[in-house]
Amino acid sequence: MPLYEYICKKCGHVFDFLACGCVVDANVKCPWCQEANPKRICSTLSSDNPADVNPFYVESSG
Ligand SMILES: [Zn+2]
Repeated sequence: MPLYEYICKKCGHVFDFLACGCVVDANVKCPWCQEANPKRICSTLSSDNPADVNPFYVESSG
């Protein structure tokens, strides 16, 4: 599932939102201040290297 990164227009918090299927930006709410319609920054899964975008990624050995 795609993981989108948003920044809240009101309080400026950056948060991840896991979207199944298509997501409407206006339906996403800031978990801190509940402000709707945050600005989407990018998809954090766009990189070829998972360790690049996820510091907790553990490479499986086989
Ligand atoms: Zn906010």
